[in-house]
Amino acid sequence: MEISVVAPVYNESGNLPELYKRLTKTLKSITQRYEIIFINDGSTDNTESLIRKIRRNDKKVKAVSFSRNFGHMAAVNAGLQVARGQRVVLMDADLQDPPELITQMYRQSLRGSQVVYAVKEHRKEGPLRRFLFSLFYRLLNQISSYKMPLDAGTFSLMTKDVVKILNRMPERNKYFSGLRAWV
Ligand code: UDP
Ligand code: MG
Repeated sequence: MEISVVAPVYNESGNLPELYKRLTKTLKSITQRYEIIFINDGSTDNTESLIRKIRRNDKKVKAVSFSRNFGHMAAVNAGLQVARGQRVVLMDADLQDPPELITQMYRQSLRGSQVVYAVKEHRKEGPLRRFLFSLFYRLLNQISSYKMPLDAGTFSLMTKDVVKILNRMPERNKYFSGLRAWV
């Protein structure tokens, strides 16, 4: 397996069909050896049946379904545990992370990068939230001994080695972006 894409999904039935379509197109242009893993984090809309429908026609799609909502972080962790690819892409399912960027991220990883992350140049949020995000990252870098990339969210590609280390971490509440930078 060359690439696994892991996407936590919570009430995303409005975005799921388009996400699946764009992801598949992008991944097929890179390799046939890929898997898409949807982690359904206890959605209450028809996300579950949509995933089932997609899976019926496409065995490259895998799914983990939580019995209730456990939160984004738990879903990410579950996805990293089941991903089998040499490279694992982590992305949100709400189309705020454009699937097409995976092509560039993959290319960068072929050049030897073990972690490739996307950086948000623009945020759709209003000025206050934008200011708070920026403050958060800058404060965090002031107090932590490891440098964290600014404005890098979940959207990233990691090699299997990095994923293995993250999976071995016993922390219960994982601040994913921080641990990824640390690894
Ligand atoms: N998500 C999830 N569980 C939750 C909340 C969100 O799995 O309890 C998923 C959601 O479907 C999306 C991703 O996590 O794919 C990021 O969520 P959201 O867009 O709400 O976060 P933000 O963009 O505000 O960081
Ligand atoms: Mg979002």
